[in-house]
Amino acid sequence: VKQKGRDGFTFYTQRFTDAARKKTEMESELHRAIAQNEMQLWYQPQFHLASEELIGMEALIRWIHPIKGMIPPDLFIPLAEESGLIVKIGEWVINRSCAQIRQWLDRNIAVPRIGINISGAELRQGDLLRTLSNALEQHQIPGQYLEIEITENFMMEDIEKAIKLIKELKNMGIEVAIDDFGTGYSSLSYLKSLPIRRLKIDKSFVIDIPKNTHDMAITKAIIAMGHSLDLEVIAEGVETREQQKFLHDNACNFGQGYLFCRPSTAENIERWLSKKE
Ligand code: C2E
Ligand code: CA
Ligand code: CA
Ligand code: CA
Repeated sequence: VKQKGRDGFTFYTQRFTDAARKKTEMESELHRAIAQNEMQLWYQPQFHLASEELIGMEALIRWIHPIKGMIPPDLFIPLAEESGLIVKIGEWVINRSCAQIRQWLDRNIAVPRIGINISGAELRQGDLLRTLSNALEQHQIPGQYLEIEITENFMMEDIEKAIKLIKELKNMGIEVAIDDFGTGYSSLSYLKSLPIRRLKIDKSFVIDIPKNTHDMAITKAIIAMGHSLDLEVIAEGVETREQQKFLHDNACNFGQGYLFCRPSTAENIERWLSKKE
């Protein structure tokens, strides 16, 4: 292949190898990160909008890199999904969550249900039910303490499989929420057949309220549809009083966002939980 010329081919090849090298580098760093305990699980409280009562917490992974500092999940989760490492990471998240719940229960800290993000890649490659039942068993925790957040796109991939999975989770006492609702495929008819408990409105719809009237209309419609299907609705990305009021006025059940509380370390959350009592 001719590597030089005005077509920019050399430049393209160079750029391509750079990107590929960076990816391989990050992948091997991810392996190391898991082995050397560089991952942390942070938690973000979720509230009942009418009473402001704490109803749950979402577990959000953080990679504390020894040199680069904190790497957000949006940067490494997609890579972990591609390389299959997501299965290991997911097992770690489930075990860490259960160990944390056990620790809090043992010390009489009132801990609410914890929502765990499970990505499609994890569901396809791993054995989620076994991982969960082992972790619950090992830490002696009833399934009611966990909620699984699964994206709309995964549900749509194979509805029959999704229904089966959700039923099995329900048998273990674990509820399921559809995550990032509204951002995936647009077919809504599948919703009625899924035995889920809640819809989670993606923050992309909430963040521009009240500036964006279309987002307001969509958010309103999602809440109304959720309720008519007997589902609870939670909004993420609540940053302002105005957004909270809009959601509350439209009967959205729950909210999560910087307005109430940012995601934080187990230590900070624990201090906050203990103070509440
Ligand atoms: P997500 O499931 O949609 O999680 C909500 C994201 O919104 C989190 O970002 C959270 O920190 C952020 N957020 C919460 N409140 C606000 C707010 O008021 N304003 C704004 N601007 N953002 C808010 P985070 O922690 O960076 O996580 C990003 C994504 O990474 C998550 O999106 C989820 O898809 C994925 N993720 C995080 N932890 C895990 C995990 O343990 N396993 C898997 N498979 N994915 C995870
Ligand atoms: Ca989520
Ligand atoms: Ca989201
Ligand atoms: Ca997500």
